[in-house]
Amino acid sequence: MNSVQGLELKNVQKTFGNTQAVSGVSFKVQKGEIVGLLGPSGSGKTTLLEIIAGLIQPDRGVCTWDGEDLADIPTHKRGFGLMFQDFALFPHKNVHENVSFGLLMQDWSSARVSQRVEEVLDLVGLPGFGSREVDTLSGGEKQRVALARSFAPQPRLLMLDEPIGSLDRTLRERLMGEVREILKSMKQTAIYVTHDQKEAFTVADRIVVLQEGTVAQIGTPLEIYHHPDTPFIAQFLGLRNVFPAEIKKVDGQMVISSPFGEWPSQEDRERKVSLLLRPDAVMLGPSPDANHCELRGTLMKKSFTGKAYQAEVDAEGTRLHFTFSSSAEDFPPQGQEITLHFHPSKAFQVFE
Ligand code: ATP
Repeated sequence: MNSVQGLELKNVQKTFGNTQAVSGVSFKVQKGEIVGLLGPSGSGKTTLLEIIAGLIQPDRGVCTWDGEDLADIPTHKRGFGLMFQDFALFPHKNVHENVSFGLLMQDWSSARVSQRVEEVLDLVGLPGFGSREVDTLSGGEKQRVALARSFAPQPRLLMLDEPIGSLDRTLRERLMGEVREILKSMKQTAIYVTHDQKEAFTVADRIVVLQEGTVAQIGTPLEIYHHPDTPFIAQFLGLRNVFPAEIKKVDGQMVISSPFGEWPSQEDRERKVSLLLRPDAVMLGPSPDANHCELRGTLMKKSFTGKAYQAEVDAEGTRLHFTFSSSAEDFPPQGQEITLHFHPSKAFQVFE
């Protein structure tokens, strides 16, 4: 079979007045895969969901399912499900009535509906919640009911638009892992929209990073985190140590010269670049061997997050941010001069 299984977008474009909301967007979602659409506000995430759902038509490009063009297939015949940030649960109906709504719309028999509602409430960890009124539920429980309702009709593609964005941080951290487990346990094909990189990393198998309506990078969370393609992506992922730098020859030796120091370089061509110093590839203390580079600075701020220290260091007037896994006892006090070391091939990434 030649056609692509699952969803494929090819060169999709949409303009509203003078605003190019999406342009030249192409990506695939394989069956059973969770693809994260990650990008800042206004990068075109919702517009893409609306195009895939058939709520708006693209100006250009095609959207196919199993190789079949979706252009002439209306929203309700696409077999796709949508879940929004505000959950949109019916407040005056109980949990069973909320979850069964889409099934009854699709003319499921009442016996099948009851069985399916129990099944999906079990899946989201809310067995026996059917008769509970929605407005008596906690935020996390409502989110799970909304999730159960969105996948109860077994959509061939489920699209989740910032599904936990309105919840508080602690609850979000817990639920993002649970959402992935639930979707994977059903082998649900899904698109998960978020502007939060941590959420995308936790939930998605692959991530499409959007920037001003175009695809900036596609890859697994590991690929994107370890090899962001551009300084924009690095900074959007929270890798804040990105600075202009220069690769040049000094006394016959190639060096990389940055605002916070100068080190020998393996590069063979002089040029201006952007330099990323990875926050988690730097260690406390002087260099243990000749393969490591040293960096000195003043520890300006530190905060303990439970697993690690987040530290802000002033190096030659430049503020650098690092993450150290270190025990509380041996971490230096704020205001102290510190020496750090790193392996350049692990800590540096050069952008042209
Ligand atoms: P957010 O995370 O804030 O929801 P987003 O990534 O989902 O943002 P979109 O809502 O897709 O971004 O918007 C992309 C661009 O298109 C924005 O500049 C937005 O203002 C514009 N846009 C979207 N819908 C319309 C519309 N109906 N009319 C005019 N402009 C629109």
